[in-house]
Amino acid sequence: MKNLLFTLLAFAFINPLLAGLPAGETADVPIIMYHALEDNPSNRWEITVAEFEDDLKWLSANGYTAVIMQDLIDFVHSGKPLPSKPIVLSFDDGRQPAVDIMLPMLETYDARITMAIIGATTDQYTKLAEEGKEYQFPHMTWDCVRKAHESGRIEIQSHTYDLHGSAGVGKKRAESLDQYRERLLGDLKKFADVLLDNVGLTANSLTYPLGILSPASDEIIRDGGYLASLSCYEKPNTITVGDIDGLFALNRYLRPPHMSSETFFNKTLK
Ligand SMILES: [Zn+2]
Repeated sequence: MKNLLFTLLAFAFINPLLAGLPAGETADVPIIMYHALEDNPSNRWEITVAEFEDDLKWLSANGYTAVIMQDLIDFVHSGKPLPSKPIVLSFDDGRQPAVDIMLPMLETYDARITMAIIGATTDQYTKLAEEGKEYQFPHMTWDCVRKAHESGRIEIQSHTYDLHGSAGVGKKRAESLDQYRERLLGDLKKFADVLLDNVGLTANSLTYPLGILSPASDEIIRDGGYLASLSCYEKPNTITVGDIDGLFALNRYLRPPHMSSETFFNKTLK
């Protein structure tokens, strides 16, 4: 408690934007996890376009505003106000159809989403598209990532460069903490390089692949320049102005298919 108070005071001192803000102002921000929009969802990570549009409609009708990770970071780091009922709609993996179909809907409902892309997959699908190859589960190419970013409706963030395998960002048993740190920072650096080269952007929020993290991962990614991370624990979040630790391992609710928006949101946002 004493440490938190000291951090808050020190932070307010070095950050003039915090001056005059109520100390410890908080915001409840639920985060929803999506992956792909498909006509016939074949697993619990896909929903239909109509279901997603209904979600946007329900949230708008019930006074929610879909904000992005940068808004949460600005609230905590500089006290920039959030709307009264903020919610983050996060998409993992960068599946292509999600982008083309979503843009007009996001305009209609004045919503924004956060899209966490896998650097290596984006590289791979860019190459496949250049070769004119067909594929079953198309992911975004760098052209598509640029289009998404330039729309102002889709925030591009990191899902690692190439740590989406079965171990995710977790520490391997055989590696030392230093080796783990070096491997993770190396991956983050690779992601930073491709995002900067292809889109001119820097990511500051990491979505942990498969929700896997180790006790050291938040500290390491913070050293790698990240200000927030997302897990898969299905719980609410409360963030606090000045509490920069509170932006790590944020919880998210998976939005499953074959469920009405009303049922899903009444279950998760109560
Ligand atoms: Zn993923």
